[in-house]
Amino acid sequence: MQTKDLIRQLLINIGEDPERDVLNKTPERVAEFWGYATRGYKVDIDAVLKESVSNDKYDQMILVKDIDYYSLCEHHLVPFFGKAHIAYIPAGKTIGLSKIPRIVDAFARRLQIQERLTKQVAEAIQNVLQPKGVAVVIEATHLCMQMRGVEKHNSVVTTSAMFGVFRENERTRMEFLDLIKISRI
Ligand SMILES: [Zn+2]
Repeated sequence: MQTKDLIRQLLINIGEDPERDVLNKTPERVAEFWGYATRGYKVDIDAVLKESVSNDKYDQMILVKDIDYYSLCEHHLVPFFGKAHIAYIPAGKTIGLSKIPRIVDAFARRLQIQERLTKQVAEAIQNVLQPKGVAVVIEATHLCMQMRGVEKHNSVVTTSAMFGVFRENERTRMEFLDLIKISRI
């Protein structure tokens, strides 16, 4: 069954009339939206990363913060979204800075839970670069919680994944958290 037919059935199940004026184009629009919102499944993340790896002696922290992302929670198929902050300390290899938001996007544009998204981004960088450390912090607003009234409005959930020196060395971790202005994890 095609996605648009499923959506048409969904409209009927919730008590709507799929033939009603504007609604008759909704199944196609929704099907197209789902293709876009889950396009991350088609991205080969290792390939994206590997084509951009270069040997580099730079050994200070590289930080990309405030990366906007949009994902879909796999419990409710409802959006969660917010900011991702990513840092790593290279050990001989770096990647182009523009690749970092692309990694986030590739993992976010799938059905996700926030914790797994955080870990997958950190592991992808860890595996390709083998850096001295990698740190990922993801802040999220979950519409499934807010719309159901589970959480207070405007509450943001923060998750983190830290490897290497970010895990072992408190000063390095604090420096990172300070740069992204997060006081607690
Ligand atoms: Zn949910």
